[in-house]
Amino acid sequence: MGAVVLTAVGAAVVYAATRPDRNDRTVTVNRLQDVQRRAEATRIAHRRWFAARKADLLRQIHAAKARNEAAAAPPQPAESGSVPEPQIVRRFIPFGAKRKAETRAYAHRHYGISTDKLVDPKVIVEHYTESADAQSAINTFATDQPDSELHELPQTCAHFVIDSDGTIYQLVSLTEICRHTVGLNYTAFGIEMAGFSDQQILDRKPELDAALTLTRWLRCRFGIDVHNVIGHNESLRSPYHRERVASLRTQTHDDWKHADMNVFRRKLAALGGC
Ligand SMILES: [Zn+2]
Repeated sequence: MGAVVLTAVGAAVVYAATRPDRNDRTVTVNRLQDVQRRAEATRIAHRRWFAARKADLLRQIHAAKARNEAAAAPPQPAESGSVPEPQIVRRFIPFGAKRKAETRAYAHRHYGISTDKLVDPKVIVEHYTESADAQSAINTFATDQPDSELHELPQTCAHFVIDSDGTIYQLVSLTEICRHTVGLNYTAFGIEMAGFSDQQILDRKPELDAALTLTRWLRCRFGIDVHNVIGHNESLRSPYHRERVASLRTQTHDDWKHADMNVFRRKLAALGGC
């Protein structure tokens, strides 16, 4: 019995002696874990700060490099070599989804292609407006009504109109097909000049000079030969002429006849190559 009592007392002593130790260890472990958690949080915060700083520095380095390269780069050559772009007033006529759809339908009827885009143009066609100024032609082109001659949509148009004083207006994007010459619209830019006859424009220096300068820039930009700069009246002799509508295969207009275009082309060639 005495041994049992002693053992019980011993166990109680041992228990009493060890309990505080366990509590201390628990507190210590908790503190240690807390310290470790805080240290880990600090490490994560530092890693994030360094990553952000590194990204920021890289951005600054790339920006500085781009600025240096831009400053060191030689000036870009003009798109048409040494031929500068003339002064052009952009006065675009409405050419929205409806007109583009009409142009696609026109291109399909007349050329068997379903696009409103002028791809790889090969010809420049010169015209006169049969009006005193450019504005009346612009007004007509802007109204997308059936044209007065062939009663088709879209309304006729030209990429450029030159006024009697030599002001050049661009009306249509160079990537869009414009309806100005039966048989050639799929591959031709159209340039209209205000006036009533070839001779009147040949005698009107500011307008003629503007037409020549614009034509030279355009032909050089798109690699179009001088002999593919033609008058509307020469359309049927162009090797690019094609027309699916039989009744229109011999249709052309009187503006810019062959003899007058020979004068125009001589002056164009005299301005120099590209
Ligand atoms: Zn014409």
